[in-house]
Amino acid sequence: MKQTLFIIMSLLSFFGLGNAAHAATIRKVAPTYWWAGMKNPELQILLYGDNIASSDVTLSSKDITLKEVVRQDNPNYLFLYVDLSEAAPQQFNIVLKQGKKTTTVPYELKQRTRKGCEIKGFDASDVLYLIMPDRFANGDTKNDVVPGMLENKVDRNEQYGRHGGDLKGIADHLDYISDLGVTAIWLNPTQENDMPEGSYHGYAITDYYQIDRRLGGNEDFKSLVDQAHAKGLKVVMDMIFNHCGSENYLFKDKPSKDWFNFKSKYVQTSYKTASVMDIHASEYEKKIATDGWFTEAMPDINQRNRHAARYLIQSSIWWIEYAGINGIRQDTHPYADFDFMSQWCKEVMDEYPNFNIVGETWLNSNVLVSFWQKDSKLAAPRNSNLPTVMDFPLQGLMNRAIVEETTDWNDGLYLLYDYMTQDFVYANPMNLLTFLDNHDTSRFYQKEEQTKNLTRFKQAITFLLTTRGIPQIYYGTEILMAADKADGDGTLRRDFPGGWEGDKTDCFTRNGRTDLQNEAFDYIKKLLQWRKGNDVIGKGSLKHFSISNGTYVYERRYQDRSVVVIMNGTDSEQNLPLAPYKEILPKATATDILTGNTITLTDNLPLKERETLVLTF
Ligand code: CA
Repeated sequence: MKQTLFIIMSLLSFFGLGNAAHAATIRKVAPTYWWAGMKNPELQILLYGDNIASSDVTLSSKDITLKEVVRQDNPNYLFLYVDLSEAAPQQFNIVLKQGKKTTTVPYELKQRTRKGCEIKGFDASDVLYLIMPDRFANGDTKNDVVPGMLENKVDRNEQYGRHGGDLKGIADHLDYISDLGVTAIWLNPTQENDMPEGSYHGYAITDYYQIDRRLGGNEDFKSLVDQAHAKGLKVVMDMIFNHCGSENYLFKDKPSKDWFNFKSKYVQTSYKTASVMDIHASEYEKKIATDGWFTEAMPDINQRNRHAARYLIQSSIWWIEYAGINGIRQDTHPYADFDFMSQWCKEVMDEYPNFNIVGETWLNSNVLVSFWQKDSKLAAPRNSNLPTVMDFPLQGLMNRAIVEETTDWNDGLYLLYDYMTQDFVYANPMNLLTFLDNHDTSRFYQKEEQTKNLTRFKQAITFLLTTRGIPQIYYGTEILMAADKADGDGTLRRDFPGGWEGDKTDCFTRNGRTDLQNEAFDYIKKLLQWRKGNDVIGKGSLKHFSISNGTYVYERRYQDRSVVVIMNGTDSEQNLPLAPYKEILPKATATDILTGNTITLTDNLPLKERETLVLTF
């Protein structure tokens, strides 16, 4: 009986007779659903369907108020603004009437499963592990090709093609990630990129409410977050508000021309975003940097359009509430409208006060980067409200510092000391994302043959994991993957060996790694496991000394505990006089956590070439 009824219902629905004759086809509803009891009681509901704009709109709810119905140039869109301040969790109908034609759109307000303050963001006690999902591990070959999607093949020999990695592949290796000792994963974008080419990197979103089905889909994403949480790993989601993919329905059939900058016509950005805060910048420079398009295939969204702005803000809140993510990494942050981005950060942090957002602030100096951090004195009276910025200047310096011979006035580790002396420019130096490399830069090791010198690797990793800030490690660093950006972006994002069935080597296992890889892996793991939950590094202050005898010395302190890092930046032995460091050496002996050796701290400390000590007190 049930089956018969189901068939009749299906037939009625097939002929469009489910509710009334000639109902309009609704192609998208965004957000797909929402929650009762959010701090911001306003909700925008975007309806996209054939010629629906002339409809009269009513809601079948007693406690939801329809405040505003907005029609744009395109008759296929309706934007509803509703007031949820009195609304209980419920299912209701949005009813569209056009003459005799009635279209019913079911909508749900769910019960929240947690309070906003219960979502814990990432901070300096964490270390992020950055993964490009298409290139890490293929956990499900059935989703490699999804019929109907534009890029519908995998080719692992093609550096810009899809390789088939997915969320299940990441979930399958959470033990490996957790064992390494990082405490969070940041995934390059996972939202749908239904683009004809280059869709593997994820930065051309075609539906903000859909995880790319070749990666798994929405439920797999939520499941991955749950599994990560169960293993003590936080999850940071990559988002892009500056631009979307040109195959996005919002661009292909745009609500109005002013949804995209330059009236929806392609004009290339200059990428020179220093013009946003440059007091001498011409109007031309300012406009071309932020309103120009990232590429022709990535139309530049006009966030000054209030409907576009609301759509983007809600999409981010939807993912936090739906999946319980711990943070957002916002792509190309300075390319979007400053005031909009500021408003977005404020609204997210109002809803989730313990959350964290890091913006991609790819600028060449600490002065420029600092402008983008919340409460920056240099930006005042403007305020980005962005809690965390990326320390790109330090990334460049770290890569130089460990190659060059250090002197007391120039070069090598002096660069790090000199840069750190300028930290007063930052409103919050602890909230800087620090990294040696990421998916857009050359890897720390550009050439395979360089990996033979692990001394410099060890020094760089030690500095990264013990100085101020929130470290981020790019997948494969722990197994010495090398890549030069000059060989193409795809090479920076090579497959993790062992992530695909039949791979000749499996670097997820000790036996699959070479001795050199295991030495690097063990070193980074030891430091990461030691750093995990260590308040001296996660919360402690930083005090440092100018370079002496080519050696950089700094202390991290939290309450009555401290760690002192001593780094010889020269290719010679040093005999470091310890008198200047008295105030940070409370005892005559200390344990070096790297070797377990007891180090005697008397008049002079002998150091081997490029030796690093991490002393605990
Ligand atoms: Ca797959």
